[in-house]
Amino acid sequence: MQDIAILQARLDELLRIAKSNERKQENFQQYELALLQSTSLEQLLSIILDQHKDRFQLTEVTLMLYDPEYEMQRLITAKIDHASWRRRLLFTESAHLLNQHFSPQQQPRLMKYSPHQHAYLFPDCDELGSVALLPLVRQNMLIGSLNLGSRNPSRFQQKIGTKFLEHLAAVVSACIENARLHEHIKLVGLRDALTGINNRRFFDQRLSEEVSRARRSGSSLSCLFIDLDYFKRVNDHHGHQAGDAVLKQVSGLLSARLRENDVLARYGGEEFVILLADTSQADAALIAEQIRDRVAKSHFTIPSGKTLHVTLSIGVASLAADNDIEEGRQLLAAADQAVYAAKLSGRNRVKQAG
Ligand code: GH3
Ligand code: MG
Ligand code: MG
Repeated sequence: MQDIAILQARLDELLRIAKSNERKQENFQQYELALLQSTSLEQLLSIILDQHKDRFQLTEVTLMLYDPEYEMQRLITAKIDHASWRRRLLFTESAHLLNQHFSPQQQPRLMKYSPHQHAYLFPDCDELGSVALLPLVRQNMLIGSLNLGSRNPSRFQQKIGTKFLEHLAAVVSACIENARLHEHIKLVGLRDALTGINNRRFFDQRLSEEVSRARRSGSSLSCLFIDLDYFKRVNDHHGHQAGDAVLKQVSGLLSARLRENDVLARYGGEEFVILLADTSQADAALIAEQIRDRVAKSHFTIPSGKTLHVTLSIGVASLAADNDIEEGRQLLAAADQAVYAAKLSGRNRVKQAG
């Protein structure tokens, strides 16, 4: 009788373990599905940094990404206010820093938490008992590590099987790489290939956003339309490549002059546009005049080694209480008309709309 009771107890225990494993499996599969279905880098990072911890009852989850050219950081700051992740989304330019944990095999490492070794991976949390460091690998290259921390010292131990964690790391790596490429392509689609600044598509999107924002908050917004003078002659006399070199240098001068919230774009061939937030037409005209003066006094180097002078004309228009500009395209059209007037009155000058 006693044997049967023991057997029954064992069976119950096995069933309990099987059920618990099934629940774990289900939980993992749901998590994996959420990762795979994420549609943006922002959403993916939020699943990893915000949801992972609660779903798997961890004390801390951080992500360290190898980002030697700051590409990921650029993509992320362009899209995401990642202040809330600042201490959990980490970047390193040092391959060595990452490799030291995982070489020679790129396998998950489970161990007791050691402040000396692990504090930089968990900058906000020093109450850990054990950690699992999962290498994120794409095409045999270490792209980062997913770092799981638990208060429980026996949660992650060397002898625990790591198949599940390996699988998790593979899914997370593939998703991160995929999201990175996706954001990269989106960003490239909004950039001008020659100058590296925003393109017209980007500008048109921002223009309507900025106009509604200014209208809502009652703040001023100004637009500069910039057109290089007699630019065809630069190409005709010095060749197309010289023209390209000048366009690049002009865009460099323009971006150097701007504040973080201003929007600069190459609008067409030798045309640039700038949106100045919280700037009245009079102030915008002063900025335009500084730009005009700066360009007129600059020497532009062309591939032959020669230097050229170029000038530009600028039209300035603003949203203001005393005009009826309501929409982005009206603001842009007013600035475009002003630049036309600047051309007619002799070029190398600034004209205000209205
Ligand atoms: P205006 O003072 O009236 O503006 O004269 P312009 O010659 O600048 O005006 P127009 O619009 O007739 O010609 C613009 C020229 O800009 C045409 C083209 O030769 C040149 N251009 C446009 N895009 C590019 C480019 O990507 N690279 C180069 N090198 N030249 C370009
Ligand atoms: Mg033009
Ligand atoms: Mg021109």
